[in-house]
Amino acid sequence: MQIFHSATIVVERDPEGALALILDVPGRSVNVLNRQVMADLNAALDSVADSKAPLLVLRSGKKSGFIAGADLQEFLGIQDAASAEAVSASGQQLFAKLAAVPMPTLAAISGACLGGGLELALACDYRLVFDKPGTQLGLPEVELGLLPAWGGTQRLPRLIGLERALRMILDRKRLNAAEAFRWGLADALAATENELREQFARLAARAVGEGKRRPPHLPLFRGGWEGPLRTWRQCILESNPLGRRVLFKATERLLRRRVPDDMPAPFEALEAIRTGLQDGMAAGLAYERSAAGRLAVSTACRNLIGLFFQTQKSDKLPEELRGTVPTPVRRIGVVGAGTMGAGIAQLAAFKGCKVVVQDVSQAALDAGLERIEGLFRKAVERRLLTEPESVERLAAIQGTLQWDGFDNVDVVVEAALENLDAKKAIFRELEARTRPETVLATNTSSLPVERLQEGLKHPERVAGMHFFNPVHKMPLVEVARTSASSAQTLATLMQWAIHLGKTPVLVRDSPGFAVNRVLTPYLNEAVLLVAEGLTIEQVDRVMKRFGMPMGPLELLDQVGLDIAAHVAQSMQPMLTGRFEPNTAFEKMRSAGLLGQKSGRGFYLHDGKKPKVNVQAQELLRSEKSNPFSQTLPTTARVTEGRERMVLLMVNEAALGLSERLTASAEALNLALVLGAGWAPHRGGPLRYADDRGLADIVQSLSALAARYGRRFEPCAELKRRAQANESFTQPLHALI
Ligand code: NAD
Repeated sequence: MQIFHSATIVVERDPEGALALILDVPGRSVNVLNRQVMADLNAALDSVADSKAPLLVLRSGKKSGFIAGADLQEFLGIQDAASAEAVSASGQQLFAKLAAVPMPTLAAISGACLGGGLELALACDYRLVFDKPGTQLGLPEVELGLLPAWGGTQRLPRLIGLERALRMILDRKRLNAAEAFRWGLADALAATENELREQFARLAARAVGEGKRRPPHLPLFRGGWEGPLRTWRQCILESNPLGRRVLFKATERLLRRRVPDDMPAPFEALEAIRTGLQDGMAAGLAYERSAAGRLAVSTACRNLIGLFFQTQKSDKLPEELRGTVPTPVRRIGVVGAGTMGAGIAQLAAFKGCKVVVQDVSQAALDAGLERIEGLFRKAVERRLLTEPESVERLAAIQGTLQWDGFDNVDVVVEAALENLDAKKAIFRELEARTRPETVLATNTSSLPVERLQEGLKHPERVAGMHFFNPVHKMPLVEVARTSASSAQTLATLMQWAIHLGKTPVLVRDSPGFAVNRVLTPYLNEAVLLVAEGLTIEQVDRVMKRFGMPMGPLELLDQVGLDIAAHVAQSMQPMLTGRFEPNTAFEKMRSAGLLGQKSGRGFYLHDGKKPKVNVQAQELLRSEKSNPFSQTLPTTARVTEGRERMVLLMVNEAALGLSERLTASAEALNLALVLGAGWAPHRGGPLRYADDRGLADIVQSLSALAARYGRRFEPCAELKRRAQANESFTQPLHALI
């Protein structure tokens, strides 16, 4: 019998009198918490208060999951700290009301239970989790520059212990169902539908018998093994104020080391937890609210949320291609079974395509197929698919030294060696071997796609499709258009990239596309700085503090110095004047310092943790010594080094945008963040320039140009926008 009904929530009573509160937000594929849901929940809780029901069960009416989190679209309406605080306060009040309903409450969780969704579940007395693929419990707010502000920083440590809560809130660790049960976040676990019914009945009976749980209180240690403390480590560290202080101190030190500059969210979250455990829940909740206000208007948070919406936008074809119907991609061909070819073939098969991989050598083909098998093994270990599924998908991949099967594919991705003549020959062959409607794409890192179209009868079938290494992990794909590529070709590649779970960004054909073009001057400058006397560590550390996931020299070691030298060389003509040629790469290559692949590069890769390779430092130092930088004290030189690296990227991005490299500054920013890990909380190079002020950027570049040469000369686009006071990016609310 239904006792409450609203747009998003119904409450039903079963024959035994227990109530089920079912959330189903209309028009959305997943449940999110928005103003409407919160108002409906408030009214639903009023309606159950006097029901005298023995139990209230909360569950989702959607198959897709429990609750994916708060509705971020509403966040765009928040303009000041006070309104963010008010949103936090009303959520806290609502969940306090849920925690205080007279009957015991049980959250039945299946699928995603994230952010505000988990905070709601935490306000219930009991939690049951269904162990199916896709069940995830987490508080990922810090990822967006926020903190859980509906009581999550208070209830979670009280339930599962401090150390584990810190991992979930600060490290954004998401738990699957089994982990949630092991960590004490869930009271019961079910693996099958039958077990779900059984476990539900058992937990419901237990909840009715035991009644509401005692409100969490300090100290955390409630005695015996009944409380949240489950391990000896927790007992020793978390059961007393001294142990907790040690943990807080150690965590703070770790954050200071790991969190980049200008990213306040993890520190605010830590402080909210500390306040709550030291001074009580009311004080903790008050801290949560005020921190929510501060963070919501922080630059880091606005930038991260901007990227979130931009990524979502990229899940659909860009406006200019919307009228074109993409060809469904069911069969693909891959040319080259090396690092990239194997990765692309594996991903395509994983997503259900039939794949034929071609290579010129049997040994390379065998090695590629072995790599593919290894990738599937890892996917099974990570429970992304079952063993039988992996066998079936693997069987969908065929290898060939000829062109068997290429007459029947929808798309070919060429990932053979980076050599123009070799690639041109391959495209001529492909044109002859494939059906006229097959789309032909190249994964080149640095060659112009239009050169590969030369001499073809149907150049409109050809475009760039640039994956990043490792293919299964990196979220970006650049789809590169030449003036000859047809809308059909581009729409097919863009839509297929979306199907593969990637974020595609449409770029204009130009050597290095967007990501490698902006990265090349940066990596080159990093090497120059070492040659001028900065240490390898100083260069990498300063960029990690800026927010890059790894330093430029670490990145070079990962890519391989030979590859980087090759890319730099083939892009040099395009970068003339904005790129200081240097022989450092060649020296490193001749000395066998190729990076990870040879065990030595800027770092020595023989132990567990790479160590600085002094030999590389010495080798480059003899290269060049700059009279200007030698006169500065070390910290100023390091700061100036950072400016040199960052501003070269800003300048190149601005120039690229003026050449319509991407349709918008937002798309270029997204490509850099997803493809190069460009400090996400700074929103990409053009957003960073806007936040800092274009006049300052122009002035700083001009000063660097006066000292170090014309590669720092601000481009016309930067100067024009600075003068006209015109930013590159749009304000947040304009993004949707
Ligand atoms: P790789 O050396 O690992 O593999 C190249 C493969 O192509 C080898 O197996 C080789 O035998 C095969 N091959 C060579 N000539 C061939 C031909 N004529 N026909 C068919 N197969 C041929 O190289 P990789 O790192 O996989 O790079 C492949 C392409 O992807 C290059 O264009 C590269 O610039 C680009 N790319 C590389 C990366 C990266 O990080 N490795 C990232 C993005 C793009």
